Amino acid sequence: MIIIGAGPGGLALAHGLRRHGIDAVVHERDARAGARPQGYRIQLDEPGLTGLRHCLPTELFELCLATAGAPPARVSVRNRYLEVLADRAAAHASGTADAVGPRAFDRPTLRRIMLHGLDGQVHHGARLTSYRHEDDGRVTACFADGRTATADLIVGADGVNSTVRRLLLPEVRVEDAGLRLVYGRIPLDARAREALPDWVFESVFTVLTGGPGEAHLGLGPVQFANRPDRAGRARTPVVDLPPVGDYLACMIGAPADHPAMPATADLRALPTAALRELALRLLGGGWHEDVHRLLARWDTASLLPLRISTTGPVAPWEPGPVTLIGDAIHAMSPVLAMGANTAVRDAAELTRALAGVTGRDGSLVEAVGSYESRMRDYAFPIVAESRRTGQQRVGQR
Ligand SMILES: Cc1cc2nc3c(=O)[nH]c(=O)nc-3n(C[C@H](O)[C@H](O)[C@H](O)COP(=O)(O)OP(=O)(O)OC[C@H]3O[C@@H](n4cnc5c(N)ncnc54)[C@H](O)[C@@H]3O)c2cc1C
Repeated sequence: MIIIGAGPGGLALAHGLRRHGIDAVVHERDARAGARPQGYRIQLDEPGLTGLRHCLPTELFELCLATAGAPPARVSVRNRYLEVLADRAAAHASGTADAVGPRAFDRPTLRRIMLHGLDGQVHHGARLTSYRHEDDGRVTACFADGRTATADLIVGADGVNSTVRRLLLPEVRVEDAGLRLVYGRIPLDARAREALPDWVFESVFTVLTGGPGEAHLGLGPVQFANRPDRAGRARTPVVDLPPVGDYLACMIGAPADHPAMPATADLRALPTAALRELALRLLGGGWHEDVHRLLARWDTASLLPLRISTTGPVAPWEPGPVTLIGDAIHAMSPVLAMGANTAVRDAAELTRALAGVTGRDGSLVEAVGSYESRMRDYAFPIVAESRRTGQQRVGQR
């Protein structure tokens, strides 16, 4: 099998297939892991954690949990004066006996753990540009550097701007969700933790909304159960993880048509100090003093600009030897924190579907079809729910 993209979906799938003795190679366009900023916090709830448990070797799944924070399983929405507008159980918390509750991961750490044990199975610097069908039913992936690779199945796990999706389902549109974010971190050493308000640590994620058409602030603590580098060193064999301290993920978002918001290309070109100024300008005045205390500690060097997209309607399609998982087929705004959860769930569902397939006698396409049909049933309602929630809370289109 050929997997395009080494995000959470592609890496979970590579592990899942390997566990079932199915050969799979991941082709990733980045020159190396960590070649570009990948974002910070990533929250996995039941769908993602169950998928991860299914796909990863037990010791790696345990290392994921050992390095993740376990914040209270609540999501809180407040106004600029900190009055609580909503406070509910974190998304899709089932309360079943084996549910572990939401976990807050550091995204680069999670990726490093998921790359572990896939030596020789992940090719970096491999950007897929096209694929072609062979007469024997197999498919050949073509890469920017002229290399090709042929297999029974190509899985596009290549994210929101997926090349595989453009080739397979050219009619599918990815829409601008009308939201722009400035995303960064507030480092949490003991002094900072002491100085910051307790309410930030009482939920897995808190949204402070400025009201319709206005900016919002999002805050999510990442407090490691064990510091990742130490937890990795304690394993046999050792898993080499970077030293990273606790932090609060902190983002300021605003509608794309906010009068102070620059065009996307200009936003992306801003140096971090200018991003900070812009974000504070977008936020405007009248916020509770706790917000100012928090933002005074926002690490300017960590700031990244983001444009949020969401997949438009997708009609069912005929299954074949090319399929899609994750953001490649169901990108959604991050308001419900379900994108990576669903990508990892896809990986587990596709692994299950492919596990019983032995040859190219039609059973492979049948297995792909059964995965795609299930995925459409659970994933597209989450895209719609993310859109609705985004419209209500943060001015998504
Ligand atoms: C601010 C923010 C916060 C978020 N927080 C959460 C959260 O807390 N919980 C959650 O569940 N989700 C969250 N999400 C959503 C989550 O980030 C995505 O849904 C998730 O990363 C999708 O995983 P993926 O594997 O499908 O794609 P990606 O993570 O996008 O990975 C795709 C990979 O494919 C590679 N690629 C692309 N094109 C090619 C090509 N042509 N050839 C080879 N490789 C290619 C890319 O380089 C990339 O490595 C958040 C999103 C944002 C923007």
